[in-house]
Amino acid sequence: MTEFELIRRFTAPAPRRGTGVVLGIGDDCAVLRPPPGELLLATVDAVVEGVHFDARFAPGDVGWKALAVNLSDLAAMGARPLWALCALAVPEGADPRRLAAVGRGLAACARRHGIALAGGNVTRARELSLTVTALGSAPAGRVLRRDGARPGDVLLVSGTLGDAALGLAPGAAAALARRQRRPDPRLALGRALGPLASACIDLSDGLAQDLGHLCRASGTGARVELSRLPLSPAARRALAGAADPFLAPATGGEDYELCAAVPPGRVARALAAARRLRIPLTPVGVVTRGRAVVLEGPSGARYRPARAGHDHLAPHRRKPAF
Ligand SMILES: [Mg+2]
Repeated sequence: MTEFELIRRFTAPAPRRGTGVVLGIGDDCAVLRPPPGELLLATVDAVVEGVHFDARFAPGDVGWKALAVNLSDLAAMGARPLWALCALAVPEGADPRRLAAVGRGLAACARRHGIALAGGNVTRARELSLTVTALGSAPAGRVLRRDGARPGDVLLVSGTLGDAALGLAPGAAAALARRQRRPDPRLALGRALGPLASACIDLSDGLAQDLGHLCRASGTGARVELSRLPLSPAARRALAGAADPFLAPATGGEDYELCAAVPPGRVARALAAARRLRIPLTPVGVVTRGRAVVLEGPSGARYRPARAGHDHLAPHRRKPAF
């Protein structure tokens, strides 16, 4: 199969027209027009065979996740998603049907969030990988950053935590495996929080680690009550009788939920906005003075997890962690 056939098969299912696409796939560059008066937000992330996915993933899940993890970064900053570009690396002899299925997964995620695939590239490589650039926009005053949290802000977490990590275990419940394979970026919630939150981050590496990033950027600490962490029914079942029931919810990666710091006077509005969107949003702690990120167990004692969080460079990380 030639490079051009491969690109055609891979990109055929994806939406190509969309808001602000002046010229899409097919020329040397895409020509894109951001909404008037808004800032452009850009992010890039790669998913690599053997590191982020393996043979247990359906090809469609690989394509979906490659885009979804980028959209989660746009969600964390309150952006409206607009466009994506995809650089595909393909091993010699890869099954074209499998590649087409990867493309369909990416297309499904793009359609769900109303964005256009505006460009791409393909190269040979030793393993399959997709490097996706996602672009979005937001009004200048509504960009959510990591560095705006202030002591006293309430920490709110969307959805449920730990599902994606638990979804890696052999025989994991379907609901948990789905969270691992088809993450659902919280774009609408991110935009709703734009005018309300003082800081926000998406949870790709686990709450403990990502909250640490937010606090370091903001020059604050935080106190989280572990008993408040929102758990799905499937996670509760999976964790019943676990030696450490907090490890997955506090440190498990890839949930792609949002963690926002919201000033106390705006918490009711944030919770009401989430209710309108039918997305759970749960207060789990507060931003504090100092630099310590303290996780408090049910007895009030400080909890120190056996591992800090999800490490994307750790070897063999596709071996089930729980
Ligand atoms: Mg992020």
